[in-house]
Amino acid sequence: MIEELSRLLGPANVLTAPEDILPYAFDGTPTLKQRPRAVVFPASAAEIAGVLQLARTHAVPVVVRGNGTGLSGGSVPVAGGIVLGVTRLNRILGLDERNLTLRVEAGVTTQRVYDTAAAAGLFYPPDPGSMKISTIGGNVAENSGGLRGLKYGVTRDYVLGLEAVLADGRVCWLGSRCVKDVAGYNLRDLFIGSEGTLGVVTQVLLRLLPAPAARQTLLATYATMAAAAETVSAIIAARIIPCTLEFIDRRTLRCVEDYAHVGLPLDAEAVLLIETDGHPAAVAEEAARIEELARRHGATTVRRAADAAEAERLATARRSAFSALARLRPTTILEDVTVPRSELAAMITFVQEVAARHRVEIATFGHFGDGNLHPTVLTDERDAGEMRRVEAALHEIFAHALQLGGTITGEHGVGLAKKPFLRQQLGDASYELLRQVKRALDPENILNPGKIFDPDRDRNSSPGIAPSREA
Ligand SMILES: Cc1cc2nc3c(=O)[nH]c(=O)nc-3n(C[C@H](O)[C@H](O)[C@H](O)COP(=O)(O)OP(=O)(O)OC[C@H]3O[C@@H](n4cnc5c(N)ncnc54)[C@H](O)[C@@H]3O)c2cc1C
Repeated sequence: MIEELSRLLGPANVLTAPEDILPYAFDGTPTLKQRPRAVVFPASAAEIAGVLQLARTHAVPVVVRGNGTGLSGGSVPVAGGIVLGVTRLNRILGLDERNLTLRVEAGVTTQRVYDTAAAAGLFYPPDPGSMKISTIGGNVAENSGGLRGLKYGVTRDYVLGLEAVLADGRVCWLGSRCVKDVAGYNLRDLFIGSEGTLGVVTQVLLRLLPAPAARQTLLATYATMAAAAETVSAIIAARIIPCTLEFIDRRTLRCVEDYAHVGLPLDAEAVLLIETDGHPAAVAEEAARIEELARRHGATTVRRAADAAEAERLATARRSAFSALARLRPTTILEDVTVPRSELAAMITFVQEVAARHRVEIATFGHFGDGNLHPTVLTDERDAGEMRRVEAALHEIFAHALQLGGTITGEHGVGLAKKPFLRQQLGDASYELLRQVKRALDPENILNPGKIFDPDRDRNSSPGIAPSREA
């Protein structure tokens, strides 16, 4: 198979040496590792179809990989399988200013999508914290969110169409250039968030918006997390939908300041980063109302970014939360529970209580406006005893999020990490429906097998963070 792959793609695009494949043995998810048999880099949909046909002939699983920033183990290889990297599909195919769309190949980074739109005075809103590295194909496969999700939604809201190569090598276009289109089932949306299990996304047609004329960023500090949570509820209740409504707790705050040096207040228990955008007059009015609400609900200070550069520094500081925390202990497990916004304060209190009870260190930050929390466990995977406590704490956190009407993942996907909890969240009927869809599109289970759910009945599969499986 390796020889056939080399003939198809050229030997330079097929890696098999241990030192070459090692970087593809993991993604951004700690504790999950598996070396692939080979890593291949096709440059077109036709070459991808060829790779998938070979994989079927040899019954070898294929794991699609963007840039490996995933946080649920989605692009971690399957034992004996190959990794199909899409980074050679990196062309901007066309900006259509009449229809406000941008067509790109799947390996283009999110930042390049944003920059291409911005250069034409347009705006691509989804901005995952990883946007400088993540690919648009990975964003589509995970239906990624970002700091602007509250007002602008997630990746799904900007995908008009996509090209995908199916497991049997057929290439299909799903969706259209039309803003309205209800012809047939919405298969495009089925592929968004499918985590590489239904097909390989090769092209994406994105919807763009006119760039907002003005932006204002505010930073509010609090002596208690409860006061910060109340401010969020008050802003939403006042029918204000800011573009960004992020929070970071005391632990994260100190790390971020130590890492990014942007002058964050170190004595606060919680900080809210709020951005409003739109028409200058509306932005000025909204910013004033937000400031007033923040002060009324206990903010100790409210600082307005003086200019775009300061606003960008503050947003960059928030985006660096994961990297900043990752410097503290050898293993950083970033979780992704989401609850209805009304339950945010209860969920944060629960996370703090669980951390204390299990004697594990958890820092929390996240997209407050979306109810999306990132409790981040700072630990050491080499310490088996500590890892057992971490696992117990995380199980309780997932279970509690579900009890509050939440979800085990708001934006990072199920992958390997959340697989044991999916049936509990969905219930038997919808869980089986998911598996039926997978069987219909990939009956031989070639594409990313074992992600989202196990191929066989998995009621009894072991829960939690899988141990390192270095092959
Ligand atoms: C520091 C940091 C911050 C992050 N912040 C955010 C955030 O704010 N919001 C958020 O939503 N996520 C965030 N993430 C998670 C991650 O960046 C996203 O899930 C991102 O979309 C993954 O893109 P990628 O190109 O790295 O994909 P990968 O990690 O390579 O793959 C992710 C999944 O998509 C599949 N896949 C990749 N490309 C394709 C394709 N072309 N066709 C089909 N399937 C494909 C893979 O098989 C895998 O299942 C963050 C991660 C890090 C490390």
